[in-house]
Amino acid sequence: MVDNDKHFEYEIVRYLVLKQMSGYELLLRAVHEYIVYDANIRDLADRYGFDRDLIRSVKQRILQKAGGDLRLAKRTVARAVNEVIRYVPQYGVGRLHGLCKLCRMYIDNGYLADHFSKSHSGLINEYTEMILEIMRENNKNVKVVRQR
Ligand SMILES: [Zn+2]
Repeated sequence: MVDNDKHFEYEIVRYLVLKQMSGYELLLRAVHEYIVYDANIRDLADRYGFDRDLIRSVKQRILQKAGGDLRLAKRTVARAVNEVIRYVPQYGVGRLHGLCKLCRMYIDNGYLADHFSKSHSGLINEYTEMILEIMRENNKNVKVVRQR
């Protein structure tokens, strides 16, 4: 993998970590299906209860983070999303009133991700490194299985 790809990969994973921390696990699941499996956006919106525009805009953000490389975006999301959901706690809660469990503070829902970006960026970076490490380990294991 070239250095540029690594940079993009880091940016994508960091964005996924931020979303998960802010409490958007279901949105990550929807976007995962949308990007990796090209699932129908209308079905996703119905099933997960998100606006179609929101799902589309998250895909766009991820594509931007990938430097416009859809294949890289797909590959990274495919490898990262389940690990992010499994290992990164959701510190933001609630669709009506946002709450940051770390600060024990109520935050307007639309600003939850902003709050985590501003107040907890060190933690986001730590989780991002952790997820990238897990992804590297997963890669090694896949190679070992293939060699057998
Ligand atoms: Zn907080």
